[in-house]
Amino acid sequence: MTLAKIVKPDVQELLHLTVLRTERIAPRWVRVTFGGGDVERFRPMGHDQWFRLFLPLGGEAALDRVPPKANGMLGYLKFLRIPDGVRPVMRNYTVRAHRPATAGTGAEIDVDFVLHGSAAEGTAGPASRWAETCRPGEHVLIIDEGLCFNPERGTDRVVLVGDETALPAIAGICASLPASATGVAIVEVGDLADALDFRHPHGVELRWVTRSAGEAPGAAALAALRAQQLPDAPFHAYLAGEQALASGGRRMLVGERGADKGLVSFTGYWKVGASSPASRASREAAARPST
Ligand SMILES: Cc1cc2nc3c(=O)[nH]c(=O)nc-3n(C[C@H](O)[C@H](O)[C@H](O)COP(=O)(O)OP(=O)(O)OC[C@H]3O[C@@H](n4cnc5c(N)ncnc54)[C@H](O)[C@@H]3O)c2cc1C
Repeated sequence: MTLAKIVKPDVQELLHLTVLRTERIAPRWVRVTFGGGDVERFRPMGHDQWFRLFLPLGGEAALDRVPPKANGMLGYLKFLRIPDGVRPVMRNYTVRAHRPATAGTGAEIDVDFVLHGSAAEGTAGPASRWAETCRPGEHVLIIDEGLCFNPERGTDRVVLVGDETALPAIAGICASLPASATGVAIVEVGDLADALDFRHPHGVELRWVTRSAGEAPGAAALAALRAQQLPDAPFHAYLAGEQALASGGRRMLVGERGADKGLVSFTGYWKVGASSPASRASREAAARPST
């Protein structure tokens, strides 16, 4: 059987959302709760469901200029025609929690943003800076992208490894696993004060590892993975976070530990020294001259 690498949502459309509230949940974490707008059209899929987020840093009027398929090749080309400075910033984020509408409130989506750099000192990326400073009532757009963790690859035995940017994804996967699941989740953080606890099946061991000062992001998680006793094969591995963690973890599991590469999901979430990469299709489109 050929397994799809990713699980696409049934519907991909631009959804308008409003910031309802924000909360500093840890020194380097801000939770932004979105609702209103098109939130009732959002279809939660659990696991590591992620989306493209469009932040109107050049003014909210520019949100109306984002093309409906800005996540695809042609749509992204059109998106790039919005002038610099006005064009919204596109980044990728994960659904940390989705709460359906109740009799008294509309549906809500929580997104946990890692704060890197410093907004005050101008060293933060635009999305991190936005999360730290946004206010209720601000508008954004999202396009649902579905899952990188493909549950068809197995949910009873797992090896989940990530840095803090993948903490929302690993927490979401753990919330979606059957209670009988076993395995290990290794999550690297810069400081234990940012180790946001989350519920996980009893048989999935949660291991926090911390980066020492100056240590490359992902190195501590990879060292912990190397020393980790793995569950009996077959298991479904999921690796996400800084690029070197994701690709290095896959190499380690497949090359050194004999894991089945068809059962390893891995995604570089960010790269040291580079602004968030768009999808490969989007990068290829951006490299081509527009007609
Ligand atoms: C599928 C997917 C889901 C994701 N989900 C989440 C999520 O739920 N929460 C979350 O916080 N992030 C998540 N990320 C990662 C997030 O998209 C990146 O960290 C993104 O680069 C942040 O954008 P920015 O505008 O703040 O910084 P950018 O403009 O992209 O980068 C500016 C500079 O900051 C550096 N940088 C970027 N991110 C970090 C970081 N985390 N730590 C240290 N330096 C960094 C870059 O190397 C660059 O030098 C996800 C990524 C993907 C692909």
